[in-house]
Amino acid sequence: MRAKESIEVVVSRIAEAARAVGRAPDSIRLIAVSKTFGVDAIRPVLSAGHRTFGENRVQEAQSKWPDLRQEFPDLELHLIGPLQSNKTRDAVRLFDVIHTIDRVKIARAIANEMHSAARHLQLFVQVNTGEEPQKAGLSPTDVKEFVTMCRDDLKLDLTGLMCIPPIDEEPAVHFALLGQLAEATGLKGLSMGMSADFETAIEFGATHVRVGSAIFGARPAAKTDLRGA
Ligand SMILES: *Cc1c(COP(=O)(O)O)cnc(C)c1O
Repeated sequence: MRAKESIEVVVSRIAEAARAVGRAPDSIRLIAVSKTFGVDAIRPVLSAGHRTFGENRVQEAQSKWPDLRQEFPDLELHLIGPLQSNKTRDAVRLFDVIHTIDRVKIARAIANEMHSAARHLQLFVQVNTGEEPQKAGLSPTDVKEFVTMCRDDLKLDLTGLMCIPPIDEEPAVHFALLGQLAEATGLKGLSMGMSADFETAIEFGATHVRVGSAIFGARPAAKTDLRGA
Protein backbone atom coordinates (compact mmCIF):
# COMPACT_ATOMS: atom_id res chain seq x y z
CA MET A 1 0.00 0.00 0.00
CA ARG A 2 1.23 3.53 -0.67
CA ALA A 3 1.87 5.87 2.23
CA LYS A 4 -1.15 8.02 1.43
CA GLU A 5 -3.54 5.06 1.58
CA SER A 6 -1.75 3.58 4.60
CA ILE A 7 -2.19 6.70 6.64
CA GLU A 8 -5.83 6.98 5.64
CA VAL A 9 -6.37 3.42 6.84
CA VAL A 10 -4.66 4.15 10.17
CA VAL A 11 -6.67 7.35 10.63
CA SER A 12 -9.94 5.50 10.06
CA ARG A 13 -8.91 2.65 12.37
CA ILE A 14 -8.18 5.24 15.07
CA ALA A 15 -11.60 6.82 14.58
CA GLU A 16 -13.29 3.45 14.76
CA ALA A 17 -11.41 2.41 17.91
CA ALA A 18 -12.29 5.74 19.52
CA ARG A 19 -16.00 5.51 18.69
CA ALA A 20 -16.13 1.94 19.97
CA VAL A 21 -15.34 3.23 23.46
CA GLY A 22 -17.33 6.46 23.18
CA ARG A 23 -14.36 8.73 22.64
CA ALA A 24 -14.06 11.54 20.10
CA PRO A 25 -11.65 10.57 17.29
CA ASP A 26 -10.00 13.98 17.47
CA SER A 27 -9.03 13.38 21.10
CA ILE A 28 -6.29 11.10 19.76
CA ARG A 29 -3.20 12.45 18.07
CA LEU A 30 -1.54 10.28 15.45
CA ILE A 31 2.24 10.55 15.46
CA ALA A 32 3.60 9.14 12.18
CA VAL A 33 6.92 7.60 13.21
CA SER A 34 9.29 8.23 10.31
CA LYS A 35 12.56 7.00 11.89
CA THR A 36 14.89 5.29 9.38
CA PHE A 37 12.82 6.66 6.47
CA GLY A 38 14.07 9.46 4.29
CA VAL A 39 12.41 12.59 2.97
CA ASP A 40 11.20 10.72 -0.13
CA ALA A 41 9.10 8.43 2.04
CA ILE A 42 7.90 11.30 4.23
CA ARG A 43 6.72 13.58 1.42
CA PRO A 44 3.68 11.51 0.38
CA VAL A 45 2.49 11.56 3.99
CA LEU A 46 2.88 15.34 4.07
CA SER A 47 0.99 15.53 0.76
CA ALA A 48 -1.82 13.56 2.33
CA GLY A 49 -2.11 16.46 4.77
CA HIS A 50 -0.50 14.86 7.82
CA ARG A 51 1.73 17.13 9.93
CA THR A 52 2.60 15.25 13.12
CA PHE A 53 5.73 13.10 12.99
CA GLY A 54 7.96 11.20 15.40
CA GLU A 55 11.68 10.46 15.33
CA ASN A 56 13.82 8.54 17.80
CA ARG A 57 17.24 10.08 17.15
CA VAL A 58 18.08 13.75 17.38
CA GLN A 59 20.84 13.62 14.80
CA GLU A 60 18.80 11.72 12.24
CA ALA A 61 15.93 14.16 12.72
CA GLN A 62 18.27 17.11 12.17
CA SER A 63 19.27 15.67 8.82
CA LYS A 64 15.67 15.43 7.62
CA TRP A 65 13.41 18.02 9.18
CA PRO A 66 14.85 21.56 9.22
CA ASP A 67 14.22 22.09 5.48
CA LEU A 68 10.77 20.52 5.62
CA ARG A 69 9.95 22.83 8.52
CA GLN A 70 10.54 25.84 6.28
CA GLU A 71 8.20 24.36 3.73
CA PHE A 72 5.55 23.20 6.22
CA PRO A 73 5.46 25.69 9.11
CA ASP A 74 2.62 23.81 10.80
CA LEU A 75 4.69 20.66 11.35
CA GLU A 76 4.72 19.15 14.82
CA LEU A 77 7.78 17.04 15.63
CA HIS A 78 7.90 14.52 18.46
CA LEU A 79 11.04 13.01 19.95
CA ILE A 80 10.12 9.47 20.98
CA GLY A 81 13.62 8.04 21.54
CA PRO A 82 15.99 8.44 24.45
CA LEU A 83 17.68 11.79 24.92
CA GLN A 84 21.32 12.17 25.96
CA SER A 85 22.06 15.33 27.90
CA ASN A 86 24.56 16.54 25.30
CA LYS A 87 21.74 16.54 22.71
CA THR A 88 19.25 18.47 24.80
CA ARG A 89 20.10 21.80 23.27
CA ASP A 90 19.47 20.57 19.72
CA ALA A 91 16.40 18.60 20.74
CA VAL A 92 14.70 21.59 22.37
CA ARG A 93 15.29 23.66 19.25
CA LEU A 94 14.07 21.07 16.75
CA PHE A 95 11.22 19.24 18.48
CA ASP A 96 7.86 20.43 19.77
CA VAL A 97 7.20 17.49 22.04
CA ILE A 98 9.55 15.15 23.96
CA HIS A 99 8.16 11.81 25.14
CA THR A 100 11.18 10.37 26.91
CA ILE A 101 11.96 12.29 30.08
CA ASP A 102 13.09 9.72 32.62
CA ARG A 103 15.70 11.24 34.90
CA VAL A 104 16.40 14.38 36.85
CA LYS A 105 19.45 15.34 34.82
CA ILE A 106 17.50 15.35 31.55
CA ALA A 107 14.50 17.10 33.05
CA ARG A 108 16.75 19.84 34.41
CA ALA A 109 18.65 20.21 31.13
CA ILE A 110 15.38 20.52 29.20
CA ALA A 111 14.04 23.09 31.64
CA ASN A 112 17.21 25.15 31.18
CA GLU A 113 17.21 24.87 27.41
CA MET A 114 13.54 25.79 27.08
CA HIS A 115 14.31 28.87 29.12
CA SER A 116 17.32 29.93 27.05
CA ALA A 117 15.65 29.15 23.70
CA ALA A 118 12.38 30.77 24.87
CA ARG A 119 10.52 27.68 23.67
CA HIS A 120 7.75 25.80 25.39
CA LEU A 121 7.65 22.09 24.60
CA GLN A 122 5.11 19.50 25.59
CA LEU A 123 6.80 16.94 27.80
CA PHE A 124 6.00 13.33 28.61
CA VAL A 125 7.63 11.22 31.30
CA GLN A 126 8.60 7.75 30.08
CA VAL A 127 7.63 4.87 32.37
CA ASN A 128 9.22 1.43 32.13
CA THR A 129 5.95 -0.33 32.96
CA GLY A 130 7.50 -3.77 32.46
CA GLU A 131 10.56 -2.87 34.57
CA GLU A 132 12.79 -4.23 31.82
CA PRO A 133 16.47 -3.68 32.60
CA GLN A 134 17.39 -2.83 29.01
CA LYS A 135 14.61 -0.30 28.55
CA ALA A 136 14.57 3.39 29.39
CA GLY A 137 11.97 4.92 31.66
CA LEU A 138 11.17 5.32 35.33
CA SER A 139 10.05 2.45 37.45
CA PRO A 140 6.30 2.80 38.11
CA THR A 141 6.99 3.21 41.82
CA ASP A 142 9.15 6.28 41.17
CA VAL A 143 6.71 8.16 38.95
CA LYS A 144 4.87 10.14 41.58
CA GLU A 145 7.98 11.53 43.23
CA PHE A 146 9.57 12.35 39.86
CA VAL A 147 6.49 14.18 38.58
CA THR A 148 6.28 16.17 41.81
CA MET A 149 9.95 17.11 41.53
CA CYS A 150 9.50 18.22 37.90
CA ARG A 151 6.56 20.40 38.85
CA ASP A 152 7.74 21.84 42.12
CA ASP A 153 11.49 22.16 41.69
CA LEU A 154 11.86 22.59 37.93
CA LYS A 155 8.50 24.29 37.27
CA LEU A 156 7.95 22.00 34.30
CA ASP A 157 4.47 21.84 32.91
CA LEU A 158 4.20 18.13 32.08
CA THR A 159 1.71 16.86 29.51
CA GLY A 160 1.59 13.17 30.35
CA LEU A 161 3.17 9.74 30.57
CA MET A 162 4.57 7.44 27.89
CA CYS A 163 5.29 3.72 27.81
CA ILE A 164 6.52 0.96 25.51
CA PRO A 165 5.16 -2.38 26.78
CA PRO A 166 7.40 -5.45 26.77
CA ILE A 167 7.27 -7.11 23.38
CA ASP A 168 6.09 -10.47 24.71
CA GLU A 169 3.38 -9.34 27.12
CA GLU A 170 -0.25 -8.37 26.84
CA PRO A 171 -0.05 -4.61 26.18
CA ALA A 172 -3.43 -3.90 27.78
CA VAL A 173 -1.99 -4.55 31.25
CA HIS A 174 0.69 -1.92 30.65
CA PHE A 175 -1.70 0.60 29.13
CA ALA A 176 -3.99 0.21 32.12
CA LEU A 177 -1.09 0.74 34.51
CA LEU A 178 0.04 3.87 32.66
CA GLY A 179 -3.52 5.20 32.84
CA GLN A 180 -3.64 4.64 36.59
CA LEU A 181 -0.29 6.37 37.09
CA ALA A 182 -1.47 9.35 35.03
CA GLU A 183 -4.61 9.62 37.08
CA ALA A 184 -2.65 9.39 40.33
CA THR A 185 -0.38 12.23 39.23
CA GLY A 186 -3.08 14.38 37.63
CA LEU A 187 -1.66 14.11 34.12
CA LYS A 188 -3.96 14.06 31.10
CA GLY A 189 -1.71 12.83 28.29
CA LEU A 190 -1.10 9.15 27.56
CA SER A 191 1.46 8.37 24.85
CA MET A 192 0.98 4.68 24.18
CA GLY A 193 0.19 2.34 21.32
CA MET A 194 2.22 1.46 18.23
CA SER A 195 1.37 -0.25 14.93
CA ALA A 196 0.56 -3.58 16.56
CA ASP A 197 -1.56 -2.32 19.45
CA PHE A 198 -2.79 1.24 18.95
CA GLU A 199 -6.44 0.22 19.00
CA THR A 200 -5.99 -1.42 22.40
CA ALA A 201 -4.16 1.69 23.61
CA ILE A 202 -7.10 3.86 22.52
CA GLU A 203 -9.46 1.61 24.43
CA PHE A 204 -7.31 2.33 27.52
CA GLY A 205 -7.29 6.08 26.99
CA ALA A 206 -4.30 6.85 24.74
CA THR A 207 -4.18 10.51 23.71
CA HIS A 208 -1.09 10.04 21.50
CA VAL A 209 -0.42 6.93 19.41
CA ARG A 210 3.00 6.43 17.79
CA VAL A 211 2.59 4.53 14.54
CA GLY A 212 5.50 3.73 12.22
CA SER A 213 5.43 0.54 10.18
CA ALA A 214 1.66 0.57 9.60
CA ILE A 215 2.21 3.83 7.70
CA PHE A 216 5.70 3.61 6.22
CA GLY A 217 6.13 -0.17 5.90
CA ALA A 218 8.69 -2.41 7.59
CA ARG A 219 11.98 -0.95 8.76
CA PRO A 220 15.35 -2.66 8.27
CA ALA A 221 15.45 -5.28 11.05
CA ALA A 222 18.90 -4.41 12.40
CA LYS A 223 17.91 -1.04 13.79
CA THR A 224 17.33 -0.93 17.53
CA ASP A 225 14.03 0.79 17.61
CA LEU A 226 13.32 1.29 21.25
CA ARG A 227 16.54 2.46 22.74
CA GLY A 228 17.92 4.63 19.99
CA ALA A 229 21.52 3.61 20.83
C1 LIG B 1 9.65 2.86 16.44
C2 LIG B 1 8.79 3.33 17.53
C3 LIG B 1 7.40 3.36 17.39
C4 LIG B 1 6.67 2.90 16.14
O1 LIG B 1 6.72 1.52 16.03
P1 LIG B 1 5.84 0.72 14.94
O2 LIG B 1 5.73 -0.63 15.52
O3 LIG B 1 6.61 0.77 13.68
O4 LIG B 1 4.55 1.40 14.83
C5 LIG B 1 6.65 3.83 18.46
N1 LIG B 1 7.24 4.25 19.60
C6 LIG B 1 8.58 4.23 19.77
C7 LIG B 1 9.15 4.71 21.05
C8 LIG B 1 9.39 3.77 18.75
O5 LIG B 1 10.72 3.76 18.93
